[in-house]
Amino acid sequence: MKAYQIVENGKPLEEREIEKPVPSGKEILLKTVACGVCHSDVHIHEGFFSLGDDAKLPVPLMTDALAMGHEIYGEVVELGDEVEGVEIGKKYVAYPWIGCGECRDCLHDREHYCSPLKTKNLGINVNGGYAEYVLVPESKYLFEAGDTPEEAAGSYACRGLTAYSALKKANLRENDKSVVIISAGGLGLLALKIIQAAYNINPIVVDIDDEKLKLAKAAGAAEVINAKDENIYEKIMELTDGGATSVIDYVGAGDTFELASGMFGMKRGGTYVIVGLIGGQTTVQIPMIALGARTIRGVYVGSLKEMGELMELVRSGKIDHLDFEKRDISSANETLNDLKNGKIHGLVCLTHDH
Ligand SMILES: [Zn+2]
Ligand SMILES: [Zn+2]
Repeated sequence: MKAYQIVENGKPLEEREIEKPVPSGKEILLKTVACGVCHSDVHIHEGFFSLGDDAKLPVPLMTDALAMGHEIYGEVVELGDEVEGVEIGKKYVAYPWIGCGECRDCLHDREHYCSPLKTKNLGINVNGGYAEYVLVPESKYLFEAGDTPEEAAGSYACRGLTAYSALKKANLRENDKSVVIISAGGLGLLALKIIQAAYNINPIVVDIDDEKLKLAKAAGAAEVINAKDENIYEKIMELTDGGATSVIDYVGAGDTFELASGMFGMKRGGTYVIVGLIGGQTTVQIPMIALGARTIRGVYVGSLKEMGELMELVRSGKIDHLDFEKRDISSANETLNDLKNGKIHGLVCLTHDH
């Protein structure tokens, strides 16, 4: 099968002919229909996350060459002899956050918290959707997507799931008018659609790119504000009646941490959820956390249970799907570069021409 693989971090992916996996036992073989390109692919490709200054956190690769792609939508083509309840020819979204299955986290629905040295995450530790076929270990990782367009379906396995998991941790109340989403990029836009469907909230969206903000406004944001606007805090105070109650940061950088810290005004009890991994560092005025009774929490993807809830919401038709640009898998390198350089407005998926 054809696969676009990282052979060396930071170097262009190489198109390679590798062995097509054969499922055994509970395993299922999917033929990749479409695979979302997520910003973590940029970090995995580079081989690190930035921790500010020159500090870097390495992303461990388990194999010597890896086909990335963890937002997989595929068609079942072969089954191991112990698989039940899955039909050949049906299409599914694959939950890619696969743990060892034995540790305390894996046994308590926190498989996505399993040690990075033991995970077998699809497209991160083992070959994913940048390859023509993907081996999924068990049927519990497969989710039907209802009427979702093929190009959008895979995005619910990472960006959609992460967006949803972050919203669940943001102390939201239905119809809340003082929620701010930082980022009008792919993750921010997906979060916008999900918060509307799940909580009936139209948030304020903040970004540094006016073109992206236009997309957020068109997607139903109550207000959009450019983070470079010098009156941003006055505007936020006015729109939120004195301060945000929840700020969900899908960028996750030193600048956005500072920006978010100022958005709560004098309001106590605000929740700041950090999701994005753009990186960097910041200083914190510690008394403001106690005096403001503030919650700061990080979110890393989402659990299998949350994936089930999200996919139920997806199948119910309540989420208004975003448009995806479809690109052929042969443009994987160009797409990664575009994403890295902020040139992608909206969302992109790679398709395989079988
Ligand atoms: Zn585990
Ligand atoms: Zn991702």
